[in-house]
Amino acid sequence: MNYKKIKQVRTAAPPHMVGDGFKVRNFIGQDLWYDMSPFLMLDYNEPWTVGPTDHPRGVDVHPHKGFETVTIAWSGNVAHEDSSGGRGEIGPGDVQWMTAGSGILHKEFHAESFSRQGGVFHMAQLWVNLPAKFKNTPPSYQDLRDADMGRVQLPDNGGELRVIAGEHMGVKGPAKTFTRINIYDVKLKAGSVLNLELPDGDNTAIVVMEGNLMINNEQQARTGQMVVLGRTGTNVQVESNNEAHILVLSGEPIAEPISAYGPFVMNTKQEILEAIDDFNAGKFGVLN
Ligand code: MN
Repeated sequence: MNYKKIKQVRTAAPPHMVGDGFKVRNFIGQDLWYDMSPFLMLDYNEPWTVGPTDHPRGVDVHPHKGFETVTIAWSGNVAHEDSSGGRGEIGPGDVQWMTAGSGILHKEFHAESFSRQGGVFHMAQLWVNLPAKFKNTPPSYQDLRDADMGRVQLPDNGGELRVIAGEHMGVKGPAKTFTRINIYDVKLKAGSVLNLELPDGDNTAIVVMEGNLMINNEQQARTGQMVVLGRTGTNVQVESNNEAHILVLSGEPIAEPISAYGPFVMNTKQEILEAIDDFNAGKFGVLN
C-alpha cells in the first residue's frame, strides 16, 4: 500500500457559539489552510440537546463571498434562506451546499418545527474555497437529500459509506463541485476496516465524530480528533475498535494565495476591500 503519511492528529477546539443556534468545535482553522486546501474551515456541532422554544435559534442575516458553505445534518433540522432566492430545510442525512460566489446574504436557523419540539441537534459546517476563476460565479444553492447520496456497503457487514461529493469505488455523490473533492460520511461497525484510495497529491483528513480508530496501522485517533494526512500517496486505512462515525475530507489543493476577512475569502487584500465596499453598497442583494 502507498499510504499517505500522517502529518498530525488534532483535537477539536473547545465549543463556542455561532449565533445562539450552533455550538461548534473548530477542527480546521487558518493554520491548516495549506494542509487542508480547498477546505477552509470545519465547525462541528456535536450532539447537543436543545429545549423547546417559539423563537428558533440560529444566525440572522450575514454575508459570504468567494467560497462555499456546506452544512451536513445528522439530527435536528436547519432552515436556510438567501438573497439569491435559495431556501430550504434540511434534516437528518441531508446536506445544503451553498455557493456564495460573487456575494450572498443568508440566514441559518433551527427549523420552526424542530424548535417547537426541541431535541438533539447534530450538524457540521464546512467552508470550501473556490479557485480565483470561480470566485465571482453567481450564487447558487444545492439541496442534497439523504436519498440522493451515493451509498457503499462495506465488506463483511462493516458499515456504510455515504458519498456526499466525489466518488468511492465507482459510486458517485450528488454534489456539484468546482474542484475535485471527496466527502464521505461513514459509519463503521466494531472491528471493521475501511480502505480508501484517493488521488496522489490531494489533501486528506479523517474526522472522528465517534469511536476509537487505528489509521494506517500506525496512529490511534478517538472521538473529537482529526487525523491530517500528507499529499503524497494514494491509500488510507481506517480500522475501528468499536462502532465509529467518521467524516472523510479529501480534495485537490488550490495553489493560490488566500486573503480572508470574516465571511469573505478572496485572493488579495484589494479584493477583500472591494468585497466590503460591495456588501456595504447593497450589491449582495436583499434579505429580510
Ligand atoms: Mn453563513
